Amino acid sequence: MRVMKFGGTSVGNPQRIEEVGRLVSDSTPKIVVLSAMSGTTNDLVAYSEYLYKKDHSKAKLLLESMRNKYYQVADELFQSEEYRSHSHRMIDSHFDNLDEFNRDMFTQHEEKTTLAKGEMISTALMTYHLQEKGITCALLPALNFMRIDKDQEPDNYYIRENLQREISQYPGINLFITQGFICRNAFGEIDNLKRGGSDYTASIIGAAIEAEEIQIWTDIDGFHNNDPRFVKKTSRIDELSFNEAAELAYFGAKILHPTSVRPAQDKNIPVRLKNTLDPDSPGTLITGKVTGTGIKAVAAKDGITAIRIKSDRMLLAFGFLRKVFEIFESHRTSIDMIATSEVSVSMTIDQTDRMNEIVSDLENYGTVEVVPDQTIICVVGDMIGESRGMAVQALEALRQIPVRMISYGSSNNNISLLIKGSDKIEALNSLSNHLFQGR
Ligand code: ADP
Ligand code: ASP
Ligand code: MG
Repeated sequence: MRVMKFGGTSVGNPQRIEEVGRLVSDSTPKIVVLSAMSGTTNDLVAYSEYLYKKDHSKAKLLLESMRNKYYQVADELFQSEEYRSHSHRMIDSHFDNLDEFNRDMFTQHEEKTTLAKGEMISTALMTYHLQEKGITCALLPALNFMRIDKDQEPDNYYIRENLQREISQYPGINLFITQGFICRNAFGEIDNLKRGGSDYTASIIGAAIEAEEIQIWTDIDGFHNNDPRFVKKTSRIDELSFNEAAELAYFGAKILHPTSVRPAQDKNIPVRLKNTLDPDSPGTLITGKVTGTGIKAVAAKDGITAIRIKSDRMLLAFGFLRKVFEIFESHRTSIDMIATSEVSVSMTIDQTDRMNEIVSDLENYGTVEVVPDQTIICVVGDMIGESRGMAVQALEALRQIPVRMISYGSSNNNISLLIKGSDKIEALNSLSNHLFQGR
């Protein structure tokens, strides 16, 4: 069995939905994971913001324009009156439900239900479309098997057992459709795997069914060696190792959700990135194998805050770092980068909701400085530590840009550099010119 995940653009209009229908309807057994149609989750986020602000008229306008857009999609996608009215009823049931939130109290609970609607609608549309074409398939509701625990981690045992049970209800069926992104939490409430989370769904499902391959279909021909949103000349990488891909995804390569590599890596399942707009292109293959040496790619993660704590008490003191780390642990905030000197330690975090508490706890141990709006540039490749001059090349490329922190040598495949957010585009372009000329 394989898993095929299609992102928002891949199901972004009726033609694209038909194209995905063609791509999935051969006889190989598969679970197809779909995102919401592009733009929908952003709209649902905007809708939630209006409701939190009690801006009922703007909320209503947005909702009705979304509802009309979906009617149009349905009218174009379906040939028969039967399927058109069937899909209009499905669309109405979701939008009527959303409309109720505009009249009642709106809390985090309703917000999570709101955000889930995009995937519910896209999967229903795809299932009807395949059925109208006479292709046998079944819709597996993700809320019946996808679950995170109280630490927000996938509850793998629950997922495996419940997914198997769902599948076993359809003997002889080879094509299953399910929602990416959405899940239930430890309390059984509707929740999600964070923005871009459909990749994570695909990987978790792939691991649960021990799939032969997990395919992530998107709007670009694979993993590129730099961020195509900010750098003009980038090129596709044929193969990456799990570690390289995980590092790049975690440090900002939007093509993969930050934690989506790990479930596949745990079960050694190949992940293939493919382009829906050019299905014959080979894409990028991510496996346990390390190929090539040298720097392969760079990525950038925005919204980073640097925290430095300076203390004479650190000098020759045992257990100072443990105390510092415990503060972050107690506030459930993870540290991305760290650098130490005799009397100070600098760290970066990307989650700032507990910032004030963290700073006030750290102040018990020394002087604390907080610098927001930083970016981590992550340079990834194989054996960076051992290849001659790799770090020098990366630093040489950033000669004109002030670097606040460097992390190098903790693994064989990564150098991380902390710069000001406003220097990011220049840094990515300069790295591209220095490292990937001619590629
Ligand atoms: P989907 O909706 O299919 O999940 P995303 O927008 O989440 O698609 O991810 C694909 C986009 O990721 C590409 O269009 C590209 O702009 C962006 N991207 C950022 N970094 C990279 C990279 N290193 N390689 C390829 N694409 C990247
Ligand atoms: N629809 C969700 C989002 O836009 C999940 C995804 O597309 O992966 O974030
Ligand atoms: Mg995505």
